[in-house]
Amino acid sequence: RRLLAAVPDLAAEAGAAPPPSDAVLAARGIHVSFGDLQVLRGVDVSVTRGECVMLLGESGSGKTTLSQCIAGLAREYTGTVALEGTSLASATRQRSNDERRRIQYVFQSPFSSLNPRKTVAQSIEVPLVRLTSLSRAQRRDRVAEMLDRVRLGRELANRLPDQLSGGERQRAAIARALVTTPDVLVCDEVTSALDVSVQATIVELLGELRRELGMAMLFVTHNIALAPEVADRVAVLRGGEIVEEGTVDDVLKSPSHSYTRELLANTP
Ligand code: ADP
Repeated sequence: RRLLAAVPDLAAEAGAAPPPSDAVLAARGIHVSFGDLQVLRGVDVSVTRGECVMLLGESGSGKTTLSQCIAGLAREYTGTVALEGTSLASATRQRSNDERRRIQYVFQSPFSSLNPRKTVAQSIEVPLVRLTSLSRAQRRDRVAEMLDRVRLGRELANRLPDQLSGGERQRAAIARALVTTPDVLVCDEVTSALDVSVQATIVELLGELRRELGMAMLFVTHNIALAPEVADRVAVLRGGEIVEEGTVDDVLKSPSHSYTRELLANTP
């Protein structure tokens, strides 16, 4: 009995609670430094299937660095990122195509994922060519289905990205990320560059797609006001550390950290 009783203490000493057993994505003890600058100082975050976790932080808090480590976008880090319990290599090139397929990323700027010289439909097909072995006919069907889901008609799908509005372009980028049916979607400030009315349609669309496709979502933003619309849980990142984490209700109604209270006080 003494041995068993010692186990939780050991876990606590190791610094982190184990991720929930149903976590589809679990990042543990993520550290990143650029020279002397420690940008992430041992961050833990996990997301279960169908759940949306908001990663909230001000500019410079390390949100993009963390989300790019998770998505394997060319960041070296220490710590582990695991998909359904299996650790992934930190360097993108060492991740298998299927691992890459299973975590997809939507950038603040849709131009980061849409090729300016390809039609939207052609850009959406690219990850299927790179990361799956689907036939041409299967790829066409999958692209058409995704265009439907993000409500981009044929005519818009045959345009170049700069011939679309900001909101249409972000919907195309979302379609490109979701066409591979990932388990995890990482959205990095995806509404920040859009008009407020367009932001709302994108937030609504992402919620609908998450429910329909049952994926886990990490929604990265500096905008705490989006939490009730978007998220189930909120993790607050400050100076490379998670200073508070809880359900949206708990964090908004009874924040435990003074920094979160400050963020709320400064939100209209
Ligand atoms: P956020 O997304 O929250 O604005 P970032 O993850 O982009 O934060 O950046 C966190 C910190 O890391 C910032 O101080 C930024 O200047 C620094 N940083 C990010 N990328 C690099 C890099 N490639 N080289 C040096 N410093 C970097």
